Amino acid sequence: MRIFTATLATETNTFSAIPTGWSGFEETGIERGAGVTATGAGGLNWVWGKLAEADGHEVAHSLAAWASPAGRTVRAVYESMRDEILDDARRLGPFDVALLHLHGAMAADGYDDCEGDLLTRLRAVLGCETIIGVELDLHCTITPAMLKAADAIITFKEYPHIDAAARAAELFRLCIDAAAGQTRPVMATWDCRMVNFFPTPSGQMARFVAEMKAQEGRDGVLSLSLGHGFPWGDVAGGGVRVLAVTNGDEAKAHEVARRFGERFFALRHQVTDPGLSIDAALDLALTGPPGLIVIADKADNTGGGAPGDSTFILRRVCERDLKAVAIAPLWDPVAVRFCHDAGVGARLALRIGGKCGPQSGDPVDLTVTVRGLSDALVQTGLGGPNLLGRAAWVESQGVHVILVERREQAFSPDLFSNMGLRLADLRIAVVKSTAHFRAGFAPVASEILTTVGPGALFEDFTAIPYETRDLNYWPRVADPFAAETPK
Ligand SMILES: [Zn+2]
Repeated sequence: MRIFTATLATETNTFSAIPTGWSGFEETGIERGAGVTATGAGGLNWVWGKLAEADGHEVAHSLAAWASPAGRTVRAVYESMRDEILDDARRLGPFDVALLHLHGAMAADGYDDCEGDLLTRLRAVLGCETIIGVELDLHCTITPAMLKAADAIITFKEYPHIDAAARAAELFRLCIDAAAGQTRPVMATWDCRMVNFFPTPSGQMARFVAEMKAQEGRDGVLSLSLGHGFPWGDVAGGGVRVLAVTNGDEAKAHEVARRFGERFFALRHQVTDPGLSIDAALDLALTGPPGLIVIADKADNTGGGAPGDSTFILRRVCERDLKAVAIAPLWDPVAVRFCHDAGVGARLALRIGGKCGPQSGDPVDLTVTVRGLSDALVQTGLGGPNLLGRAAWVESQGVHVILVERREQAFSPDLFSNMGLRLADLRIAVVKSTAHFRAGFAPVASEILTTVGPGALFEDFTAIPYETRDLNYWPRVADPFAAETPK
């Protein structure tokens, strides 16, 4: 068979003031054709290429581009990348199968549903015979346009996203089988009318993921996904959706999606991480068990499009005169430059963070000592090394900040140790991340606490100022199904 692959992905926080332009995609490294690599933007294209090669199929890789989450993608940038993929499909086709890695929550200026737009146009180019398979991040909005244009959609099941390659392999098999005429995938979704975040490593979420997996391969169910939605994307149809793919049985797809959706809605109070106010988290950290207390600043997670330079926690730590506290990573290229110019050991007045708008808080002015510098700070990320660019470790009266040049969230303790800062010497480590930090930090933390903000991703899901989305969702509405279930 002839197989086409492409990747175009970013998670768009429509409330973010940071435009996603070429630099956002170039920072990750745009890959094309035979240039796709296992750890680059085209990582899943590479996986599909290897699987196809092993089975004797012919593969053509198109563009692979991925940008760190931020605001809407600049219109000309999106259209240019979209058209490159479409041109490749036209030029290199025909294809039996097209496999795309998209995010599912990408919006550009003039496009609320980039994935639906791209897939609709790709369908027009490839024709109705080609099987189009799509893998989405689970923080996605599954839209009617995507469902209409694609044959099969699979989302990640795990948050943290440790299963992208496993889902890619499933999508590959599903689409090859369909192209061979062995199956006929049909899809249906069910809207759970929920907005929240749902980490999957433990508890009821882990059980729900296991139940979905147990259903797959039974009763004609080819695949089952839970799209968690992305709370800070103000687009139509946002929110949690179950997506079922069955073998030719549309009624079955609807029934399974609804059954799992109703079950998930029933679990709503058990599958979320409520989080604490900043002061409540600091209070608990001071009185908690001995050792290192890790506090996650969920509201400034760059992985959700937050700036990564908010100062709300830093300010309270300084105001409360806390010691042996470190905060990382804090995005401030200007401060990094000043520290590199000043050199290790220098003492200087430094204005830190708070540069991206009200959601970042005000800058904090501290007299700091430069304790360490790096020309290329690296931490262990989910799928390989995660690059933070030039970095500086500064300290002011027992408060340590790791300043970085690239907007990234915290993944691993080597974020600190690679700068020379020993976590064993600290009482509190504040990390900017929502869930992806957990696997790395759990082994070194005596306790993990999370805060809700303030910040760009302030977790009051009852009050996100949506203008486009339907507001009939939990927790904004106690029971969004009430009108349909007369007592
Ligand atoms: Zn995600």
